[in-house]
Amino acid sequence: MNIFVVNSGSSSIKYQLFRWPAEQPVCSGLVERIGSEQATIRHKVFDPQAPEGNPPTEQFHTLPLPDHEVGLREVVRLLTEQPGGVIQDPGEIAVVGHRVVHGGEVFAATALITEEVKAEIKRLFVLVPLHNPANYLGIEVAERLFIHAQQVAVFDTAFHQTMPEYAYRYALPTALYEEQRLRKYGFHGTSHQFVAAQAATYLSQPDARLITIHLGNGCSMAAVRGGRSLDTTMGFGPLGGLVMGTRSGDIDPSVLLHLQGQLGYSAEQVSTLLNKQSGMLGLAGSNDMRDIGQALAVGDARATLAYDLYCYRIRQYIGAYTATLNGLDAIVFTAGVGENDAMVRARVCQDMEFFGLQLDEVKNQERAPGLRDLSGPDSKVRILVIPTSEELEIARQCAQLLANE
Ligand code: AMP
Repeated sequence: MNIFVVNSGSSSIKYQLFRWPAEQPVCSGLVERIGSEQATIRHKVFDPQAPEGNPPTEQFHTLPLPDHEVGLREVVRLLTEQPGGVIQDPGEIAVVGHRVVHGGEVFAATALITEEVKAEIKRLFVLVPLHNPANYLGIEVAERLFIHAQQVAVFDTAFHQTMPEYAYRYALPTALYEEQRLRKYGFHGTSHQFVAAQAATYLSQPDARLITIHLGNGCSMAAVRGGRSLDTTMGFGPLGGLVMGTRSGDIDPSVLLHLQGQLGYSAEQVSTLLNKQSGMLGLAGSNDMRDIGQALAVGDARATLAYDLYCYRIRQYIGAYTATLNGLDAIVFTAGVGENDAMVRARVCQDMEFFGLQLDEVKNQERAPGLRDLSGPDSKVRILVIPTSEELEIARQCAQLLANE
């Protein structure tokens, strides 16, 4: 069976095709700058016979793509035409799994897409105007292009629906929760769920108390026990919690009141400030940790502060979530920064003896694929790096849903 995973953004589509039940990735790609004359498609095909670590064959195209429909049609062409074709006909795709950012309180699990499910995803547009409309568009286009496939929605918020009410409620008037659903939802659920499951298997401890630390462009942490999310750092939207590439993370709401009340910012300007101009970009002038690492190496003061602030916030949440979990068995680093930036990991684990963390500095510097255990000999808590794959987790959830039908 072929499972095709689609992550449709406002001007991009990320995709990956898996053969099931082998969980074998067949090809993946990224369409960018949809809506422009100079859109691009990067299409990678994996050779199942090649040894692990061998690079896939890659095609790169620049072409005009007026909208998502034309973009996905081009992807279908790449999937079916030689060179690089991996199927004969779109009808060979049995399932299309869609990443949907917000599932609200309705979706605590993956859902087969029906007209009612689509209507609910649409109702949630108001909560995430930057994300759900783009996800919805991807669903509509895929329904037209893969007419024989089952369409499935996998929600970024669903994993966190297990949080207790005292963790997800804000201390605002009750009516704002009851009437407007103002509460913490949390995001990156697919990634937290994927790495938490692997960590529990590695530890042979289904009931493991884990803190999963997803550090990519967006950053979040989750307290997970027995495979259930008990708390997470992002909230009503994806702005809360950790310092991110361009997003602020936690901030005293009084700052926003001051920006609007005294400094004349409009709501839209505040949104742009917090989403696109803050975080590491705002502090150090770049949203890429590789640039900041280089600036840090030559003693740049702004990069030093940004690094310190970024890691300090993570350490604070390790403390908080150790309390949430009443103990700790492992922390798990994942995503672009978490998997690659040894210096961030070292700073996060520094001076954390009280919490039982002792990092093996040599292992921390080594590069290797797959799960890595960086715990030193005296570490009471395991320190793990687990590469995330939101696409594989989406495909797994699709397969599980259909198996239970
Ligand atoms: P993701 O959202 O998981 O794709 O992560 C993207 C981010 O990972 C980029 O913005 C970089 O800051 C970071 N990143 C990727 N590779 C490295 C690396 N080798 N060292 C440090 N950071 C990295």
